[in-house]
Parts: sequence; C-alpha cells; structure tokens
Amino acid sequence: MKRLLPLLLLIAHPMLATSLHAFEITGRKWPGGKTDFSINLSGTAPSGIGWNSAFTSAIAEWNSRTPFQFTVIPESQNPCTNDRINAVDFAADLCGGEFGKNVLAVTLNSYSTEILGAPSIYESDIVVNSGENFNIFDGNLGRPGLPGLDLQRIALHELGHAIGLDHSASVNAIMRPTISNLFHLQADDILAVETLYGGLARCAVREFRFGLINDALDESDCTVEQLTASVGDDSYIDLYRLDVATRSTFNFAMNSSGLDSVLLVANANLQVIGYDDKPRSAPDRSCNSSLTITLSPGSYYLLANTFDEPLDATCTTAGSYQLSTTFSSASFLTFAATESFSGGPGFGQFSAGITANNGLSYSNRFRSTDSLDINATVAIDAAHQGQPGFLVVAALIGNEILMLNAEGEFVAYANNGVFERAISKTLGSLEQVLIASDLVPASLGITSIVVDFVVGYGLDSNPGELYFHSTPLNLTVTP
Ligand SMILES: [Zn+2]
Repeated sequence: MKRLLPLLLLIAHPMLATSLHAFEITGRKWPGGKTDFSINLSGTAPSGIGWNSAFTSAIAEWNSRTPFQFTVIPESQNPCTNDRINAVDFAADLCGGEFGKNVLAVTLNSYSTEILGAPSIYESDIVVNSGENFNIFDGNLGRPGLPGLDLQRIALHELGHAIGLDHSASVNAIMRPTISNLFHLQADDILAVETLYGGLARCAVREFRFGLINDALDESDCTVEQLTASVGDDSYIDLYRLDVATRSTFNFAMNSSGLDSVLLVANANLQVIGYDDKPRSAPDRSCNSSLTITLSPGSYYLLANTFDEPLDATCTTAGSYQLSTTFSSASFLTFAATESFSGGPGFGQFSAGITANNGLSYSNRFRSTDSLDINATVAIDAAHQGQPGFLVVAALIGNEILMLNAEGEFVAYANNGVFERAISKTLGSLEQVLIASDLVPASLGITSIVVDFVVGYGLDSNPGELYFHSTPLNLTVTP
C-alpha cells in the first residue's frame, strides 16, 4: 500500500516502463474486466456493410481473443454525456471541441481513484470524426476501388483505449498510434490485455480459514504492482479468498513482530472496500494491523499487505505475520465448499455455529468461562436420503484428531480409516448434530485452545467414504 500522503494527489501517474513488450498500460482498467457498450450506428459504408457492424465485429474480436468482455447494448446513446453509459457515435466536433488535425476518432475515458493500484475506468465513450471518409474492408488501405479508411480497424483501436490500453511502440499492433494495413488484433495487443487484467491469474490466491494463519510477506509473493499491473507500489501482498454465505461482522488481525502490516478487504473485482486506517502515528503503534468490517453474502479477498515504505522505523516491509479472524453473525455459518475422501465431488450442505448466548449470535472466539453450545446441520444429498448411514464430527487440535463417539465424548482417532460415529441412522433430508452443549472450557481446565471442527456423513454401504465441508468450523478460546 502507498503511504497516504496529501502530496500524492499532485503526482502524475507515470507510464509503465516496458522493457520486454512494446505495449503501454498504466494499470487503469475496468473492475472485473468487463463492461457494457451501447452501439446503434445507422448508415452503410460504400462497401455495403453497415457502420454498426464495424463496432460489433471489433467487439467480438476483443471478446474472443482476450480475457476482456464487452456486452453490446443495441441502443443509440450520446458519447458526450457523462452518464456512466459507454457509447459511440459520429460527430462533426469533439463534444463541442475541435478534433485535432488528422484525428479519425477519439476515446474519452473517465476514472475514479482506487486504494490499491491505478484508478479504475467507469465510463468510456468513442467519438468518430464525421468529417473523414470511412469505409469497411479487410486488407491494405488505399487499394483502387476502395475509397476511405476502414472503420473496423479504427473501432478495434478505439475499443483498445476503452479497455485501458495506451499506444504501443510496436509497428505490429492495432494499438500503434496511426492507422495501418493491420486489420486484426496482433500478439502485442492481446498480451497487453492479458497483462492488464491478469493480476489474479499471476498471483497465488490462498484459501481463507478462521483460526490462525501463519505466513510471511517476502520476495516470493506478488507485489501490488504485479497484482494490479500498475506502477508505484512495490509492496508485497498476500491474497486470501473469503466466501461469505451469511451476513457477518468480521474482525481481522494481522500481527507481526517486524512487518509493517496493512490489512485490506476487497470485493470480487479486487476493489478495496475497507482497510485499516487507524492512525499510523498513534503513540501505541506497533507493526500490527486490525480491521473490523461487516460483509454481506458474496466473494471477497482479504489482503495482507505492508506499506511500500515503512511508516515506523522499527517496522520493515518484509517478514512473517500471523492472521487471526473473529466473526459475529446472527445465524450458523454455511460452508459452501465440500469434498469427499475419494476425491470425487462433495455431497451435502453443511452449516454449523458456536454460541454462548443460546443462539442470539454465533462467533468463533470465546472466553474460557463462556458456556458454549456447538451445533451443526447437514442437508443430506438427495441421492443418499433414506439409506442407512452415519454422521461424524472431527475436532482438529494441532496435529491431534479427536472424533465424537455415540456417547457424546471426543476420543482419539487411531488414524486407521475407522471413524467413530456420532450418530447412526437412516439418513433423512436434514440431520442435526449436537457437538457440545453447555461446554465451559475453564471447567475442563482449558484456558486457551484453538479447535477446528469438521462435520461429515457417510453411508453404511460404503463406510470408508466420507462427505464433509472443506473449511473447518473454528473455535478459539482465550482466557
Ligand atoms: Zn489511439
């Protein structure tokens, strides 16, 4: 993350220095790599092809050959109004201004700032200079019997600007500054889009889990520059994918003895929606970071980051950290990801929760003196309902695995493929599993512990196979 200094607003965004490729990008892009474009041009080129087809065919080419996706909206809209609608039209002037000499068309992009990386594009409009002579054809320009300039390759070029590309220094690019005999996208153009929008593919995305995560920020990680394809922020960043099924309030803590930690939460399009903005000059400031945020159901990224220059001389820009997460929600957690021992598809749907107030709220972090009720529900797959089967509960504590037996006690798992059965019965559509009730850790002599619970079910006809949820139900007990 960049240091948030007032002067930042006065610094121009430099172009990306390209040593390997000729294309130019600044990192300015559409969140999510897609947008709508309104196109409804009337009239026909001298070659007999409708003007509209120049743009719809150009869009089809960008869509089929790059990761960027336009959706054509067949409507006529004014490209000169700032209305968050992307539009194209012919005009004699550039929205009241002059077209420059020899200018065939202009793309006007509007941007909004982002916390990480370059600003994002929120509107893109194309104005085609109606004072020029156009046509539609493939192949070389200036051939006898083919008057005018091919509008389709101009559309390809302007839509490249709409995607976020600048001019390429390569002569073998549609994004070269001047029109040429090239009439299809070139490798340089395609690589530019792949680079601009490939951040999530370039950087490892880790699975989020409750409880404790120990990791580090160092040169093996992506930088913000690599993630966002922009320049100016070479801080390391780890990404954790967080799928929220139940509206919950999360408290994330990133603790480090040396790393100048910064926590951020981004939406599925990698736009930051919350970050640790505690005063960095606070007298009790450490190298830690914490963030509390309420998230509605959806997909998010938790980003473990650091300042590109440490704010505090006692902290550094690389080093190990520990993530811990507390949540609070009004209902059970639903675990979207499931799996099975055979490696086949997961079956069933699992929800579980731990409460210290009889179900008013659910969390994963409790005091050792709290009285805990731990419950789960399993929606049995339709194919397995009505069959004799069983439900299991595993408790993972460090390297130890305990399993709940039919008497309601957790016993050591012998690691022999024979599972203790918490419940044996003919499986219905929705099974309830009581994991613990009125459990007071302190009364068992436990003052602090981290336990990950996993609930699963199986069939008597195939007792070695288990269906279970991939992310455990975490319980963290502190004194
Ligand atoms: Zn251009």
